[in-house]
Amino acid sequence: MDKLRETGERILRRLEEAGHEAYFVGGFVRDFLMGRITKDIDITTSARPDDVKKLFSRTKETGAAFGTLTVLEGGFAFEVTTYRSEGRYDNHRHPGEIAFSDSLEADLSRRDFTINQLVMDHEGRVKDHFDGRKDLEKGLIRTIGDAGKRFEEDALRMLRAFRFQAVLGFSLEEKTARAAGEKRHLIHEISIERVQDELLKLLSAPHARKALRTMLEISFAQTLFGSDKAVSVLAGSRYRFDAVTAFAIMAVVDGLDIEEWRFSKSFAAKVETVCSLHEATYQKGFTPLHVFEKGRRASERADRVNRLLGDANSREKIREIDKRLPIRERADLAVKGGDIARAYPVKNPENIGKTHEELLRAVLEGRIENDKESLLQAAARILEEKEGKD
Ligand code: ATP
Ligand code: MG
Repeated sequence: MDKLRETGERILRRLEEAGHEAYFVGGFVRDFLMGRITKDIDITTSARPDDVKKLFSRTKETGAAFGTLTVLEGGFAFEVTTYRSEGRYDNHRHPGEIAFSDSLEADLSRRDFTINQLVMDHEGRVKDHFDGRKDLEKGLIRTIGDAGKRFEEDALRMLRAFRFQAVLGFSLEEKTARAAGEKRHLIHEISIERVQDELLKLLSAPHARKALRTMLEISFAQTLFGSDKAVSVLAGSRYRFDAVTAFAIMAVVDGLDIEEWRFSKSFAAKVETVCSLHEATYQKGFTPLHVFEKGRRASERADRVNRLLGDANSREKIREIDKRLPIRERADLAVKGGDIARAYPVKNPENIGKTHEELLRAVLEGRIENDKESLLQAAARILEEKEGKD
């Protein structure tokens, strides 16, 4: 048995020995039954946070207000949450007040989907209060209780449903899908950070296209993004894509403004790069300068964007260009601007920079060898022409 589960079972036993109930719950149990590897374990217990704290030497107060403590053990982190019952929900998000409970069933009934309420005890026995195993076998995402009500309580659950579709390849059970269609406008009540966290996970998952198709069918995509053109392009893609490429498509096709989201600087920069590469190469093709300046990864993503919008495949060409690039950075060029200026007196200093740029391009395109002598000779020819014009 793997170390994570073994360590988790030790935690369950310790809680039980102290007179409490404790189970693995949520993603770990779901994924375990599907034969999928999970990196973390959530635990649900009748023990109150103060009791949990006393039983373990290393704990962190991650979500004490919601009854969650992180127990650190054996190099792993376990989220241990006290049984809760349905509280009041404010603003279609988060229970407004939380009530601890002594009932496992009460705790499970407030969870989102039947496949997420399965629990497992320290001996690997699974308990299933709301027919989750059946849905797991059928590949269905079904809310616990009335779907419309559950989405009204917490509108983020709709996006979670699509995200689980994208990750697991499941379908939305009919009533769940219909309710998500009816309640779709509530998604605007959810903070952009939470929406984007779910979207990023969804778009990077293997079955993203399936989730996007559902979002189209129930007009969720239109409501969320204000247009469903980009989502249609993505849903109809023959190929997989990643989140950067997907957001680039949304920016290009729907005019989605990356600045209005709360992406990390690095993610936003990647999207912007792909968008600008797309603009430079769409229906025109890739040159060595594009691949040199923006890198192979961004070029491949821009190629994916171009292809989704009708261009032919340039992937091989990009790889070939990348393999043959004679230099990787500007600094690798065998002459600097200063070398050119020292070798040739110029009337217009701007011509030095322009000449350097032309040399770079010539080297990248294989027209000149990257050695100082050839480059200085070529610089003389270029300068003569430029200075002649000035
Ligand atoms: P993964 O960790 O693989 O993304 P997960 O199912 O473990 O999936 P978490 O977000 O870690 O999802 O949440 C753990 C469990 O808490 C869920 O399985 C579900 O039972 C419950 N849960 C999480 N978010 C909600 C929510 N918005 N509404 C109701 N229950 C929720
Ligand atoms: Mg989890």
